[in-house]
This record gives sequence, C-alpha cells and structure tokens, in this order.
Amino acid sequence: MPRAVTHCPDCGQRVTPFAAGCAVCGADLEAARKARAARSAKLSFELPRAPRFGGGTTGRIDWVHIAVAVLVALAIPPVGLLLGLYWASRRHRDGETAMTVAMLAATALAAAALLAPVWFWSHLLHI
Ligand SMILES: [Zn+2]
Repeated sequence: MPRAVTHCPDCGQRVTPFAAGCAVCGADLEAARKARAARSAKLSFELPRAPRFGGGTTGRIDWVHIAVAVLVALAIPPVGLLLGLYWASRRHRDGETAMTVAMLAATALAAAALLAPVWFWSHLLHI
C-alpha cells in the first residue's frame, strides 16, 4: 500500500490523510495520492523486471537459474536436492542473499518431492 499523503505537494502544509484538497493552496490531494500510488506500483514492478544473468550482485534474481533448480527439483528430486544445496552454498559464498534463499526454496521443494511424493503431488494437483 502506498504511504498516505501527509503534506501538501504544492505548499508543504500538513494535511489530513483523508482531505480531498489542501486547505491553504487548494491543491488536488486526490491526484497527488493517485500519482504516488502509480509511482510505487511502478517501482515494485521494476524490481523483478531487471534480472542480470551472471551479474553477481547482491539481491539480483537469476530467474533462469531458479527455473532450472525448480525443474530439476520436480523432475529428479534427489538431484535437485543436492544441486539446490550446492547452488545455495555457492550463492551464499558470493554474498547473493536473494539467490541463496531462492536456491534453498528449490532445495526444500526437492526435499518435499523426495520425502513425501504422494502427499506432495496430490497437494500440488489439488491447488
Ligand atoms: Zn497546499
């Protein structure tokens, strides 16, 4: 959720979060709220849209690598388990927190598929 507009964008006067317009200069606060909501929506969409493959920067998401890890985890769980742990440790060593978490998630997926295949697949197919 976008943060409420607490100050007039035109004159800086404090306004209530529910005011339709500024009491001092008459600026349209509804428009300001909409613009702010559009801005924050744009920001949250830009994050996953800018993957850099092999960039190696903290927080970068390598979607191809995640897709491969998940596919292997589902197709060949024992291999996915080992690969996921291996990739997670490598990403952790490189300081890539987001990818470490993603690889651990793929590992957990492989572990679930390996340890409880019937439970896992029946839940997956019934969602
Ligand atoms: Zn104002």
